[in-house]
Amino acid sequence: MSIPPGSTIGIVGGGQLGRMLAMAAAQLGYKCHVFDPHERPPAADVAAGFTRADYDDRSALKAFGAKIDVATYEFENLPVEPLAVLGDKLHPGTRSLAVAQDRADEKSFIEGTGARVAQWRSVSSLDDVTAAVAELGVPVVLKTRRYGYDGKGQAWIRSSEEAGTAWDSIGHEPAVAEAGVKFDAEFSVIVARWADGRMTFWDSADNVHRQGILRTSTVPPRAVIAAQVDEARKAAAGIAEALGHVGVLTVEFFAAADGPVVNEIAPRVHNSGHWTIEGAFTSQFEQHIRAICNLPPGSTELAAPSVRMDNLIGDEVHEWQRLLADPHAHVHIYGKGEARPGRKMGHVTRLVTA
Ligand code: ADP
Ligand code: MG
Repeated sequence: MSIPPGSTIGIVGGGQLGRMLAMAAAQLGYKCHVFDPHERPPAADVAAGFTRADYDDRSALKAFGAKIDVATYEFENLPVEPLAVLGDKLHPGTRSLAVAQDRADEKSFIEGTGARVAQWRSVSSLDDVTAAVAELGVPVVLKTRRYGYDGKGQAWIRSSEEAGTAWDSIGHEPAVAEAGVKFDAEFSVIVARWADGRMTFWDSADNVHRQGILRTSTVPPRAVIAAQVDEARKAAAGIAEALGHVGVLTVEFFAAADGPVVNEIAPRVHNSGHWTIEGAFTSQFEQHIRAICNLPPGSTELAAPSVRMDNLIGDEVHEWQRLLADPHAHVHIYGKGEARPGRKMGHVTRLVTA
């Protein structure tokens, strides 16, 4: 059974991902209702309805659930339990959310599917950190189990003396200690899965990060990545299947000398897939709507021989005039308030046709 156009899609989370989901949903004739605790989140500007309430406000979630035909979420730092009031209407389900929001559970789960992750240890004291550094060797990166994004909640340990400072800098939160991976490149596999198990993939983007934040995604990727895409897709498909995931799932990889290593997963559309809006026949946002509403999959083929997406971070968004002066640049501005350093404010996609 499909959820037909004209129905209302609930989106929990009102950031730029919710905004782009709502825009894609509108193209197909759906209305969106956004649920977010902030006063005027970016997605609310383009949605038919908006509930401002805390993510753990069960009665507000219940009222929201009564207004929508299907629901989804656009980020993973949500309390899982209250979402149960949405029942079967929620896609992806709470399992995908629970696994993705805790780095230790995530790594155990991924290992359980047979995919490879960096060597890691669960740590909850400085003694644990010291022991992990002794076992894994340096460099090691500490990452809080929860609430990390864009490199936040992380600290590198490059010599054993740095263990204490790193542990202090992540606020003594339960964490994972991860061996630094020597990688040639970073890439992502974005998969959309339907309830009946069908899956579609986009070309893998070559992702460049600076200070833990994605700067650019380019397709096609370099040869070191292209050689690993088949194996990476198998790993991503295994993870999507094991989660019973419905909708878009993103798996970030390191291309290491001996093959792909899973970095992390996101149970949602992803920054490294923004290029698909103009660069593929069907964007990740539209495909997510198609999957959760059980519509036929759209083609994920490239719309140009090569595509490049650059994020606009912090102040960079103030260059909109210069960016728009290139008549071929697809400029996206998320309508967020303050351009704080490190904040994702927009992106620009360029299709290279020659
Ligand atoms: P976030 O949730 O902030 O995206 P990630 O775990 O993806 O956190 O880390 C952000 C970036 O930091 C990665 O894309 C990569 O560039 C770098 N990084 C993270 N973990 C490792 C690691 N184990 N080895 C090498 N680089 C890493
Ligand atoms: Mg990441």
